[in-house]
Amino acid sequence: MACSMVPSEPNQPKALSFPKRTFGKKAPVQRSFQGSWFDSRPWLHYDEPRDLAFCHVCMVAKRDGKLTSTKADKAFLESGFSNWKDATAGFKSHEKSECHQAAVERVVTLPKVTKDVGEMLSVSHANDKKVNRQCLLKVLSSIRFIARQGLALRGDGDDSESNYIQLLKLRGEDDSKILDWIKRKNDKYTCAESQNEMLKIMALSILRDVAQNIKNSVFYSIMADETTDKSNREQIVLVIRHVNENLEPQEEFIGLTKVPSIDADTLTIEKMRREGNNITTIDQLEFIQKSLRDKPFVSDTRTNGNRAM
Ligand SMILES: [Zn+2]
Repeated sequence: MACSMVPSEPNQPKALSFPKRTFGKKAPVQRSFQGSWFDSRPWLHYDEPRDLAFCHVCMVAKRDGKLTSTKADKAFLESGFSNWKDATAGFKSHEKSECHQAAVERVVTLPKVTKDVGEMLSVSHANDKKVNRQCLLKVLSSIRFIARQGLALRGDGDDSESNYIQLLKLRGEDDSKILDWIKRKNDKYTCAESQNEMLKIMALSILRDVAQNIKNSVFYSIMADETTDKSNREQIVLVIRHVNENLEPQEEFIGLTKVPSIDADTLTIEKMRREGNNITTIDQLEFIQKSLRDKPFVSDTRTNGNRAM
């Protein structure tokens, strides 16, 4: 049988009326192919026009160049097998042959255990992505925890001693992926810039909620007050006060901003932006203002400073 004619599946017509062949000269007997021979022999292929049996697995292996010619079992590969009288012994001997065993290994067994390289690479890439996402979420939730507790992310000295890295190491005791993550040389998002960026994203998300609350309120005002920190630096505290739908007053802390002085002239947004070391709070206030769009802020006139806003 020519290799190009190998069918995609072995032909196994179990109920066919198989033609008889005569065996022996002295006491001739007639035997035909038996449909039951297909049972437990998935490789057996019956060529109906020629009344011959072949091994489908060996034919596929030969067609695909997976068999060496020295190993070929010609009866089941090329000429065709037709010794129906001793068929069972013939099938057994073919199954044990080096040719058949090599073919089964290369055509049936190996493809089952060996996956396609592209598929393996894409599975590995998908796993990497999954682990990266899990670790990045742990990095984010650690920053959220430290911010929530009002602790410093970093200290003055060695970064590895900071609350942040120590918290990640602690979490690594329950999930070793985190330990691998912080050992990475790059793309671990634990540097100071990444920490600040993540904090800013979280702060803006909270401000969005605050802005939404204020948007739903009829009355609201800004309260600004001055405070002096331990190192004697002037700071301005911004709080938005509003009344919710149950007419309960709510106060939302927006932030602290360092200012050079607390007189009315200094406490204009433009001047604070120009001279203040820390403009984050002002940015946040403007962010809320933008979120509210057409709702102008109402000045709280209890202090001089506020009046200047
Ligand atoms: Zn075979």
